[in-house]
Amino acid sequence: MSKKRKRKGRIRKLQGKALSPGLVFGTAYRVEPQHPAFFRLSISPKDVSVELKRFRKALKRSRQQYLRDKKKLEKAVGKEHAAIIDAHLLMLEDPWLLEEIEKGIRENLESPEKAIQHVADNLLDVYRSLVDPFFRERSSDFEEVVQRLIWNLTELVVGEDPDLPDDLILVAPEIGLGVLARFPLEKIKGLVLTRAGETSHVAIIARSYQIPVVSGIENIREEVRTGDRLLLDGFSGTVEVGVGPESLVKARSKKDSAAEAGLTKKSDRKPCLTLDGERVFLYANTEFGSEVAAALKAGAEGIGLFRSEYLYMSQKNQVLDEEGHFLLYRELAETVKQRPAVIRTLDIADPSRSEYAAGEEGSALGLRGIRVSLRDPDTFKVQIRAILRAREHGNLRIVLPMISSVDEIIESRKLIEEVEKELGVALLNDDRVAVGVLLEVPAAILTLEAIARYCDFVAVGTNDLIQYTLAAGRLEEEIAYLYNPLHPALLRCLDTVVKVARANDITATVCGEMAAHPIYAAVLVGLGFRHLSMTSVAIPAVKRAIRKYSAADLKEKVDELMSLTRLSEITTFVQKTFIQRLEKESAFQELRTG
Ligand code: PEP
Ligand code: MG
Repeated sequence: MSKKRKRKGRIRKLQGKALSPGLVFGTAYRVEPQHPAFFRLSISPKDVSVELKRFRKALKRSRQQYLRDKKKLEKAVGKEHAAIIDAHLLMLEDPWLLEEIEKGIRENLESPEKAIQHVADNLLDVYRSLVDPFFRERSSDFEEVVQRLIWNLTELVVGEDPDLPDDLILVAPEIGLGVLARFPLEKIKGLVLTRAGETSHVAIIARSYQIPVVSGIENIREEVRTGDRLLLDGFSGTVEVGVGPESLVKARSKKDSAAEAGLTKKSDRKPCLTLDGERVFLYANTEFGSEVAAALKAGAEGIGLFRSEYLYMSQKNQVLDEEGHFLLYRELAETVKQRPAVIRTLDIADPSRSEYAAGEEGSALGLRGIRVSLRDPDTFKVQIRAILRAREHGNLRIVLPMISSVDEIIESRKLIEEVEKELGVALLNDDRVAVGVLLEVPAAILTLEAIARYCDFVAVGTNDLIQYTLAAGRLEEEIAYLYNPLHPALLRCLDTVVKVARANDITATVCGEMAAHPIYAAVLVGLGFRHLSMTSVAIPAVKRAIRKYSAADLKEKVDELMSLTRLSEITTFVQKTFIQRLEKESAFQELRTG
């Protein structure tokens, strides 16, 4: 597939082939082939035993590294894919190959580097002459093995750059699995390659790890440099070079419009009702103001979660002033009008300790979310004042992130009330802003009966609640298999939320990724949730799924699900009970089976 230049100048659009779906914006990192220089080609007879030892040591180290990589991949993407590393290991154990290399050292007095290269060159010629693509592809595996052996001989450190950005898009003519495994998988947001087949190891791994990949980009070294900002579209196979983060928003809106285009039938515009007439409200999670209109078009009945911290990222880590906040919230309010829009107050790690950042930074334990706001009440009040002023233009609400105690709500509400007073809001009438809490910390669920008395609504942030309940970091590749939304502990937490919210007559929404998955969404409705908020592209599929069930039927199924204790039983039950009914929805493929 050839590259096509659509536009000249700084911003360029390259056309390749989509190998793994997804849309990402990130920083290019060119993976340079490292051919370590070695100068010593021959050795003297007295050095033979020392050189043989050096070769065997490098062999052992290479083996250990592959075993370590295999383990890492096994945990991240499963045994089946990690077995690919076995091919590398087998080559390292091939007696013929090892004997040929040792013979070169012993008999031809070649340095181990030279002997390896010598044998490899001959063998690679044979591989490359083979017509069968399977064997031809093995030649890159072999090259990888040779490279690693030589690295270990020259004691070149095969490690990762500690300063790698978190939004890494690896760019390389081709990339072996061994090279991929050297990078922290959670940092790899995409791959841009020249050569990689549909069934190449890298493509398989990337797909199962949901990393978008575009291949078939020629002259990659001339086209992309380390540090370039890229928009990679793993659906259409395009790579835009030199674009800004706003390109992601635009591209996402386009995708949202595509989702909307999928809502062609009139009934899709109608509210989401179960077969027995229970109304389920579907909202959108958004990060940028410009996504809001597209979300409403895609069928969102409001914004269930507006992640305000992304404003900071777009402001080059500068704290916004009140006017900056106000303008954004006013636009949001004017777009949603009478529909609700829930603004989450800043959910970022402590700015004095780390850069302002959402996502990775924001998912840690420590000083983040409401804890930062309460430590710096003046900055918190700036945001609150802007929200309260913008409320004049639409139905804005406030949700507080990372709440773990009643005290934090009382303290936050006190600050909100101070702002209300300053703005002259009548404190006794219905005009006061609704303040809710995000339930993300198990402590909040365990004390929910008390917490519920201090808030107007609750929203479950399952992304964090799962990680904190299961002690399984949401970005930890090693234990990704533990991060299971249907773990009995999670189901109990969610059940508690529904019951306590009902008893206190407050709304409970689920706004984590869990709600975006048709099966999990059906489970949530069965648990009793009637408000779900998700990425807007997921709304049509979730709507279709919920409409296939009666709420009573879902409740019965979920009651049975709640009686199960083993994860394996739960998976089987969900597969039997839900997948058959929803099998036309492609999203189930992603259902966790662990
Ligand atoms: C969550 O934790 O589920 C949530 C919605 O917040 P975030 O993903 O931004 O942490
Ligand atoms: Mg969260």
